[in-house]
Amino acid sequence: MIKPEAMAAGHAGKILDMILQSGFRLVSLKYTQLSAQEAGKFYEVHKERPFYGELVGYMASGPVLAAILEKDNAVQDFRALIGATDPSEAAEGTIRKRFAESKAKNAVHGSDSDENAAIEGAFFFTGREQY
Ligand code: ADP
Ligand code: MG
Repeated sequence: MIKPEAMAAGHAGKILDMILQSGFRLVSLKYTQLSAQEAGKFYEVHKERPFYGELVGYMASGPVLAAILEKDNAVQDFRALIGATDPSEAAEGTIRKRFAESKAKNAVHGSDSDENAAIEGAFFFTGREQY
């Protein structure tokens, strides 16, 4: 998912290009905006963390671009491409190093396991929207 602040800053095209140039195949793509309730559900695993309220408000603050991506070793390779959660710790050449504003507004979301990728994909897309 390309997060609201990166969408508002006009970085979506460049981020998507980096993703496709890195060998990921698009299975699904959607321009949408989460309600606060939907953002709360998407990030439910972080419910107990102190930044949860901030995170939910931010993720519902504007449109996002949600995608399902396919590649061998996709989860690990995508997390390498996006870089560390905190852009000040992200490696050179990563999406977050280039586009993230802060640890909270960090440009992109990536699933952390195949299991969560399936759950998060189904959150945004029906079966007929996955090709
Ligand atoms: P990642 O997105 O790298 O998997 P996490 O799953 O730990 O990171 O956190 C989910 C999201 O919550 C982050 O991408 C970021 O937007 C936000 N976040 C994480 N830690 C903080 C923090 N300390 N303060 C504010 N927001 C945070
Ligand atoms: Mg995470």
